[in-house]
Amino acid sequence: MNNKVLTSIKTKVIVIGAGIAGSSIAGDLTRLGYEVHLYDKNLGPAKETSAHETALAHPQVGKKISKLQRFTQLANQLANQKWKKAQQVQEAFEPLRNLTSTQLGQLPELLDEMGLTSLEAQILTAKEAALKTNVSAPGLWFPTAAVYSLPRVCEIEVALLDEGQTHWNCHIKRIRQENHLWQLIDQDEDVIGSAPILILAGGLHVQDLLKTIDIHLPLRPVRGQITTFKIKTESLLMPHLPKKAIRGDGYCMPATRVTPQEWHWEIGSSYDEDQSDISPWLISDQENALKAMNLIGCDHTHLNELVPVHAFVGIRSASKDRLPLIGPIPKHPGLFVACAYGSRGVLWSALAAPLMTAYVDAFFAGADRLRAGFLTGATSTLASEVASAVNPGRFLRGVLATRASNSKPIFPVS
Ligand SMILES: Cc1cc2nc3c(=O)[nH]c(=O)nc-3n(C[C@H](O)[C@H](O)[C@H](O)COP(=O)(O)OP(=O)(O)OC[C@H]3O[C@@H](n4cnc5c(N)ncnc54)[C@H](O)[C@@H]3O)c2cc1C
Repeated sequence: MNNKVLTSIKTKVIVIGAGIAGSSIAGDLTRLGYEVHLYDKNLGPAKETSAHETALAHPQVGKKISKLQRFTQLANQLANQKWKKAQQVQEAFEPLRNLTSTQLGQLPELLDEMGLTSLEAQILTAKEAALKTNVSAPGLWFPTAAVYSLPRVCEIEVALLDEGQTHWNCHIKRIRQENHLWQLIDQDEDVIGSAPILILAGGLHVQDLLKTIDIHLPLRPVRGQITTFKIKTESLLMPHLPKKAIRGDGYCMPATRVTPQEWHWEIGSSYDEDQSDISPWLISDQENALKAMNLIGCDHTHLNELVPVHAFVGIRSASKDRLPLIGPIPKHPGLFVACAYGSRGVLWSALAAPLMTAYVDAFFAGADRLRAGFLTGATSTLASEVASAVNPGRFLRGVLATRASNSKPIFPVS
């Protein structure tokens, strides 16, 4: 083998899945100089769950400080730095109508304890909110929140790869490892790709590919529907529509004018656990319409002025603890997964891409720890907590306990 081939094998990585999970990992690895080959069964990126234009991202705020809150705060910063060009709408508001005045009074202290600066979250009175958003309720204002176009994020990332490194219309039927190389096998039983590192980022289908090597990953489908409604310009609902993205139980966007007589208003989204039917449901449209009325604080008499014109349906993949699975499959050297992003595709992708590049660096360097400083903006403790919390090994220890190993697994720094 000549040196060029050897170098290529040492830096070659295959990613299956060109949704936001796989595209963002492929992009980051390419930025670092790896030779990435991206495979997808569709004819281009973002054709399945990541095919929607309205994905909201903001740091989570809860009643108490949690890991999720700290992870989403960091992820939101990373997404903002990286994907400004994919932002459709900036800033968002969360009305808090059900809090007592005592609870509202405790909010500044809570935000402070969470380490959220006024650049990340602010408390608005009903009057201030009405001015900024047209929704008259006290609540939380997120200056760094944004609504992302997932296809645009994928395009930005995939554009970094050379044409010969994107492999469309390739349905991988199964995978196997031979001579330290992971092989992709298609429907005709042909080997259509091989590399020392294989990253499975095929959403829910990661489960199917792992089954082909006898690994059972507990993922669940969660169906979601986003509805676009049309509203007549003279509708009595028009004066109530928000000027900014509003979140709470669901989310709604500012409406856009499509003709002088008509506006479109996008509202998401339903959350149907263990459902994977991708046809639009009327009941989900109705659910979304009700959610929107509650979000903007409008009575239900205007519901019949909302006429559905379009629905996006996608199937999220989710894990039992609602955290994603990002990292190595134990006892299978070179095999990694990035899936179960649930309703936080943007945030988990922003964290997963640098985390996965750190794993790939460690693998090729023969290191058993991730390099320090791999998550920009995070302390080493926080970076380590992220890696541990999302490690797929948390669901696989029992399953793989009896397998033989030919290499030490890579664990996150502790
Ligand atoms: C209704 C709805 C609303 C949402 N709202 C938000 C939101 O507001 N904010 C947010 O951040 N997230 C949101 N999400 C979540 C977000 O859309 C997902 O988390 C994200 O799109 C998942 O991306 P993915 O890359 O894991 O999966 P996908 O986008 O599904 O990509 C997987 C890819 O893998 C390919 N693939 C799979 N198996 C194979 C195989 N065997 N061979 C070849 N290719 C294969 C598929 O073709 C596909 O392109 C929402 C989701 C839904 C459904």
